[in-house]
Parts: sequence; structure tokens; C-alpha cells
Amino acid sequence: MTARAMAGTLVVGGGLAGPAAAIWLARAGQPVALWDRERVPAHKICGEFLSWEAQAWLADLGIELDSLGAVAIDRVRLVTARRSAVGRLGFTARSVTRRALDAAMLDAAAAAGVEVERGITVREVLADGTVVAPHAALRPETLFVATGKHNLRGVGRDGTGTLNHQLGFKAYFRLTPAQRAALSGHVELILFEGGYAGLQMVERDAANLCFLVSPDRWKRLDGDFAALIADLSGEVPHLGERLQGAVPLLDRPLAISGVPYGFLHRPSGPEPGWRLGDQAAVIPSFTGDGMSLALHSARLAATARLTGAGQGAYYRRLAQDAGRAVARATWLQRASADGAWRDRAASLLAAAPALLGLGARLTRLSPAAIRRAAQA
Ligand SMILES: Cc1cc2nc3c(=O)[nH]c(=O)nc-3n(C[C@H](O)[C@H](O)[C@H](O)COP(=O)(O)OP(=O)(O)OC[C@H]3O[C@@H](n4cnc5c(N)ncnc54)[C@H](O)[C@@H]3O)c2cc1C
Repeated sequence: MTARAMAGTLVVGGGLAGPAAAIWLARAGQPVALWDRERVPAHKICGEFLSWEAQAWLADLGIELDSLGAVAIDRVRLVTARRSAVGRLGFTARSVTRRALDAAMLDAAAAAGVEVERGITVREVLADGTVVAPHAALRPETLFVATGKHNLRGVGRDGTGTLNHQLGFKAYFRLTPAQRAALSGHVELILFEGGYAGLQMVERDAANLCFLVSPDRWKRLDGDFAALIADLSGEVPHLGERLQGAVPLLDRPLAISGVPYGFLHRPSGPEPGWRLGDQAAVIPSFTGDGMSLALHSARLAATARLTGAGQGAYYRRLAQDAGRAVARATWLQRASADGAWRDRAASLLAAAPALLGLGARLTRLSPAAIRRAAQA
């Protein structure tokens, strides 16, 4: 197939980072096309916890969380097999399904003048920047790669040195009214052997249970999801209590493997595509800051593209803004693999719940970084 040259920017990936960057470029009058492989809005593996930083970027992009039915969360409950501690988040988080949010992002992109095409799966990116899809090969002036958890052939991420051994699952449940009331307003972070779960309400009275487990545990239970939930509930009775009498809302859970937690892209020279979102940096999920980081990277990349600062300046700024939070959160995720450490941490937090808010602040982007990116 002969590659056709394209003026402007081609964005591959229509999750959060892709549409956000596309909107900011289009608002500046740039020609932008966006391709996503899903034909219709789909569920994604994500805890769906929207930090204040993510909300700030979404507001800038014109996304109205209230009209999507987002719920409010202002407390965090840390739960281990033996202990639990509740603290204030220090901000009001929101929660909404990715299916609703991503659909709104693509609609906003189309409204901003982005040429959005769904149902196109890019196969690979060649060394000269040619983007190969089943129906066409394009050589855009600029390529933004925002394929999230999925690597594109030719521009894949190197997972060396990252925490990439766990399996991720997500399922929705209709909880009993009593459990729904107890969970409302909280995000629950549930630590167990080999992983952790996030549990919170999303719109339409559904609860999102999203978790990471060790492949050994999954294998030991013969890959049976109901048995896995029962096993986790046996270890952490609090989870069993929450899910008692709950009705699963998806036919089957969503699953993922090989997410490279701790990844931060630091290229040694120019590359055919600019990486955005999870393709540029992956912060451990328990921080609930991955979406904010994806949007932040989109903003930095769009600014660097529009001002002519270039790819190198973009990656340097991203590393300055996100490097510490990614490293601290990855250290904590590693440490939480130790059962004795988990119990000591939960006891400490039960005695001093304010530390939960401090921990949250240290493992996310700083307000100063957000302000600087927003004003650039
Ligand atoms: C278990 C888990 C829990 C998490 N919980 C939270 C949380 O509670 N809060 C939070 O803020 N973050 C959370 N995150 C992180 C968050 O989900 C990601 O950081 C965020 O989705 C990254 O956005 P993105 O735009 O980079 O990628 P994505 O949102 O993954 O979007 C990528 C898009 O690219 C498209 N695509 C992929 N391959 C191709 C291809 N070949 N061709 C065309 N299109 C393609 C996909 O269809 C998709 O729409 C969690 C992550 C995991 C794994």
C-alpha cells in the first residue's frame, strides 16, 4: 500500500489522552484526525476514580461530569485483612464509567472540528512515521500515539524494570441497598496478598470493583472469576461483606495483563510518534491519578507541538512533572506486596488518618505542575 501524506496531526487512540490533545490542537486551528479501534463506546479496565486534577482538565475540555451522572467521593477507606482506616481525601473526587466519559470525549473532539473515525485499528508505525491501518497508510506531519494500555507495533513500550507481572480485572455489581449506602462517598482501597482492589460507586447505582492480582492466584483458582472473588473475600472479609447479595452487571469481567507500572518514557532522540497517556507514563492504579496524568501529558504535548518546542521538550517536562509521583507510587505498590508491611501501614493510618491525605498528595501530580501546564 502506498503511503499518503497528511497535513496536520493524526492521533491514534480515542480514550482520554488522544481526544484531549486533539481538542487542544483543533482549538488552535490545527487540522487533526483521530482514529480509534472501537466502533462504539466500550467499557475499559479502569477504577474510574477522577481526581481533582483530572476534573480540572475535563472542565477545560468542556466535559460536564454532572450531565454524565458522575457521583461524588470525598473519603478513602484503606482495608486490609485485619484492619481498616478512613480518612478525608482532601478534595472531592468524582466517578463515572469510562464508557460514558470516553464517548463524551470523542463527541467533544468532533464538535471541536477533529475528524474522528471509529472502528480503525492501526496495525503498526513504520520507522519513517507511516501509520499502517487496514484501509490506508498515512504519513502525517505529526503523529500522536495514545493507544493506552495497548502497544502499537513499531512504537511499543519497553517494560523492563517496571511492575508488570500482575493481572487486572474489572467488574460492575449492583450492591444491596445497605452496602451501597455504606460505600457511598468513599473509595475503598482493599489490600490483599499479591495485589489490591479499588471499590466505589459509579453512575446508575453500580459499584465498580477493579483489582490487580498475582497470576499464581488466578492459576491456582483455575481461572474462575467467581472463585477468585470468593478467595479474595475469604482473605479480606470486608470485601465479602460488600459483595454479599450483589448482582454482577457484566456478562464477564474485563481483564488485562502486562501493565508496566512505573514506566516513564525517556527517549534518547526523536521518534516517529509522540507518545501520550499510558504510552508515555504509567502510574500505579491505586493513586487514581492515571487519567489525570494522561490528560496532563496531552496538554503538554499539544503545547509543545503548538509552540514548536518539540518532542524532546515535551518528554523533559513530563518527566519533571510526573517522575517523582510515578516513582513514589511504584515504590509503595512494591512495598504493599509484604503482608507485615500492609498491616503496619493500616495500623498507622488508623491511628493517624490524616496521613492518608498526605500519601495521596505525594503520589500524584502537584497543583503547581497543573497550573503551569494550564497557563502555557
Ligand atoms: C486496573 C487499573 C485501574 C485503574 N484505575 C484508575 C482510576 O481509578 N483512576 C485513574 O485516574 N486512572 C486509573 N487507571 C489508569 C487509567 O485507566 C489510564 O491511565 C488511562 O486510561 C490512560 O488513558 P489513555 O488515553 O492513555 O489510554 P486509554 O484510555 O486506554 O485509551 C486508549 C485508546 O486507544 C485505542 N486503541 C488501542 N489500540 C489501538 C489501535 N491499534 N488502533 C486504534 N486505536 C487503538 C483504544 O480503543 C482506546 O480507546 C487504571 C488503570 C488500570 C490498569
